[in-house]
Amino acid sequence: MITRWDVITIGNLSRNRYWGETDGRALRDAWCTCTVIRGDDFCLLVDPSLKDPEAMARELGRRTGLTPEAVDAVFVTHHHPDHHWGIEPFTKAEWWAVGEVADLINEDLPYVRPLDATEGHLFEGADAIHTPGHTMEHHSLLFECDGQKVVIAGDAVMTRDFFAHRKGYFNSVDFDLAAQTIERIATIAHVVVPGHDNYFSVKLTPFAEA
Ligand SMILES: [Zn+2]
Repeated sequence: MITRWDVITIGNLSRNRYWGETDGRALRDAWCTCTVIRGDDFCLLVDPSLKDPEAMARELGRRTGLTPEAVDAVFVTHHHPDHHWGIEPFTKAEWWAVGEVADLINEDLPYVRPLDATEGHLFEGADAIHTPGHTMEHHSLLFECDGQKVVIAGDAVMTRDFFAHRKGYFNSVDFDLAAQTIERIATIAHVVVPGHDNYFSVKLTPFAEA
C-alpha cells in the first residue's frame, strides 16, 4: 500500500509550443519531474532529475527530509538522459527500468553500475505500465493513494497542456501512439504526474481540441 507521495522537482521543457515557442530550438535546460512514493516498508524514487549529485540529494532532503540512503529503489521511465542522470547519489538503492529501457541505458554504461531490468510489478501497489509513443519502450508508474489512482507518466505526458491537447512532444517516435497513450492514461488516472510539469487532476484538465 502507498502511504504518501511527494514531488521532488517540478520539471520544465527546453521548448514548449504551448508557450508560443518553436520546436526547433532549445531555450532552456530541461528538468524532469521527480517523484518519491512511500509504502509501509519501501521508498521508491521515480526519474532522478538533477545531473549534479549534490543538488539531487539536496532537493530530496528539501522536499522530504530524506537522505539518498533512505531510497530503496529508483525507477526510470525511459532512456532519455534527463530522466536518469540524477541516479548516482542513490548508491544503496536498486536501479530499475523495464528490460528494453535498461538495455538502452546500459549500452553506454553511463554510471558506476548498470540498471537492472525489472518486470511490471515493483512493490505492493506500485506497477509499471507500458505507455509507448514518446519512446516505444516507455513505461509509466501506476499506484493508488488515498483513494486516488495516480499515474507518474514520465514523458508519456509532457505537461498539462500536452495532456489537454493529447499531443506528443516534438521528439516523440510515434505521434498517433502517443495520443492513444495519453487517452488511455486519461481513462485510468485521477491524478497525472507529467514528465516536465507539476501534477494535475485529470477531471480539471478537460480535452482541448488542438
Ligand atoms: Zn523523454
